[in-house]
Amino acid sequence: MNTLQYSVYVAPSKPAVSDDLPPGEARRMWSPTSSTLIFGEHDAVLVDPLMTIEESRALAGWVAATGKNLTTIYITHAHGDHFFGAPAILDRFPRARLVSTPRVAELMEVQYGPRWFDGFWDPRFPGQISGDHVTAEPLAGDVIELEGEQLRAIELGHTDTDSASALHVPSIGLVVAGDAVYGDVHLYLAESKGTGRRDWLDALDVIERLAPTAVVSGHKRDGDPDSPADIARTRGYIQDFDTAAGNATGYLDLYEEMLARHPDRINRGVLWNSAKAVMA
Ligand SMILES: [Zn+2]
Repeated sequence: MNTLQYSVYVAPSKPAVSDDLPPGEARRMWSPTSSTLIFGEHDAVLVDPLMTIEESRALAGWVAATGKNLTTIYITHAHGDHFFGAPAILDRFPRARLVSTPRVAELMEVQYGPRWFDGFWDPRFPGQISGDHVTAEPLAGDVIELEGEQLRAIELGHTDTDSASALHVPSIGLVVAGDAVYGDVHLYLAESKGTGRRDWLDALDVIERLAPTAVVSGHKRDGDPDSPADIARTRGYIQDFDTAAGNATGYLDLYEEMLARHPDRINRGVLWNSAKAVMA
């Protein structure tokens, strides 16, 4: 039997419409976002099919160019930037199953509702997101089969949103982490009030215990290695944010302290959102 392989597609940063700009920033951007293809000799599984019509069509072309038969699309967590692009993939591969954990499937419906689709996503990306509403089939059990190998959905609880998951491919030591792990990009911590940051640290421990040799972060610089060291870097960022939030007198203070500690990460606008939400 051939061993499985994987390949990562990173959609570049793109502008987002917003007049809420951090000090010194000229425009708001969305972070670069990854999608991962896991494949055997003939068949493939795609994890997280991106957001906009344009980037998901390009992704569909990239998958088609591999010549593999796409059997399954897996959604790690219910944030639209990771699954609103599913219609373009399903157009190209109509026999593929779109699956997620049962809880993610429920929360995906909420992302299509008025609060999130009409109130958040559409205004930031007007006309750029497909109006086709996709529904994920809740996985029965936690296994996706790929050419005799088992891919496992790992429930993580709260990470950068509630009820997130990762996809573990034990035979090749791979964890496709969704937004539980970030590459060199500011973390979205706007949903971390209450126990959110502690829960996210617990999720990182769950991933670390899988002892992966490769970890694909949901948001990363194109070309950066899929390094398990991103687990510890993500942990360090959350701990720094937690300390800084405890000491800060307001959101600007928190924003500036985190920038001083993490000056080179991509997308300061995400930090701006996180600081404002947490200090509100
Ligand atoms: Zn994300």
